[in-house]
Amino acid sequence: RAKQDGRGVFRFFEPGLDAAARRRRQIELDLREALHKGQFRLDYQPIFDLKADRICGFEALMRWDHPTRGLVSPVEFIPVAEESGLIVAMGEWALHEACREAQRWPEDMRIAVNVSAIQFRNSGFANIVVQALSRSGLDPRRLEIEITESVFLEGSGPTLDLLHRLRALGIRIALDDFGTGYSSLSYLRSFPFDKIKIDRSFVAPIAGDASAAAIVRAIVDLAGAFHMETTAEGVEDPEQLAALRSQGCSSIQGYLFSRPLTVEGVRKLLQDQGMKRTPELDPVPIER
Ligand code: C2E
Ligand code: MG
Ligand code: MG
Ligand code: MG
Repeated sequence: RAKQDGRGVFRFFEPGLDAAARRRRQIELDLREALHKGQFRLDYQPIFDLKADRICGFEALMRWDHPTRGLVSPVEFIPVAEESGLIVAMGEWALHEACREAQRWPEDMRIAVNVSAIQFRNSGFANIVVQALSRSGLDPRRLEIEITESVFLEGSGPTLDLLHRLRALGIRIALDDFGTGYSSLSYLRSFPFDKIKIDRSFVAPIAGDASAAAIVRAIVDLAGAFHMETTAEGVEDPEQLAALRSQGCSSIQGYLFSRPLTVEGVRKLLQDQGMKRTPELDPVPIER
């Protein structure tokens, strides 16, 4: 740390960059504590099935209630967690927590959990999924993991092997943020994903922008040809919904239907729909 150095030291000082870098460093330090101190929670955003006209499940979204900064967005802390490797332990916590929560919901409700590429490529990942399923007692068919195309970045061979192992467990696999990353249609040929999630950046302009609408239509048709479902992300208004319906999209997720909800919010929503949760189960601690 530069304390009493001469003024010249700061000649190339870039205040904006430094502040951002320091905040990042501090977030990394704080993340290490956060897991042990129980500062993370999961919120759950409903996914609405357009064909069945009902909620078919929820996506678990991590929230960090920081003691002094307040709620920190995953857009900010997930990349720091990935760089520091902490995402492996955080993701393990999220899988256990999400499966345990979903086990209390009606049996036809699925749970989708985001899995970072770093976490996915970690050698213990398949075992962590097995443990989350066995400790929670959740039917594997109710668990969907969301991965992005970035899992294919470092060679697709091992990735495909792992995807097939996970599939053999009975869980579902969704391709998240489709079209934003290193999209290669060959991934679709090489593995039968259960679902493609259409990124919000294509969904947002769909009603007024013919080219965005054409892209969404192409993704929906492509998914259909491979017998994959589609979920449109970030649906905020009725015009978008109407366009997605007419294009044959299977399900939607977005503020139009519901924001991500707390556990209590989910319980209330399911009750309002006449679907009761099963009685509370005792929390299962993660052994380390
Ligand atoms: P994602 O997986 O694509 O999740 C969808 C994001 O869109 C969520 O942001 C959600 O709150 C937001 N969203 C949903 N509907 C709308 C809408 O109508 N309008 C707008 N503007 N946004 C909407 P969130 O919760 O901030 O999460 C951001 C990203 O952080 C996620 O994107 C995911 O990549 C990552 N993330 C969140 N939780 C986890 C986790 O447990 N593990 C990992 N590895 N990543 C996570
Ligand atoms: Mg997701
Ligand atoms: Mg997404
Ligand atoms: Mg995303």
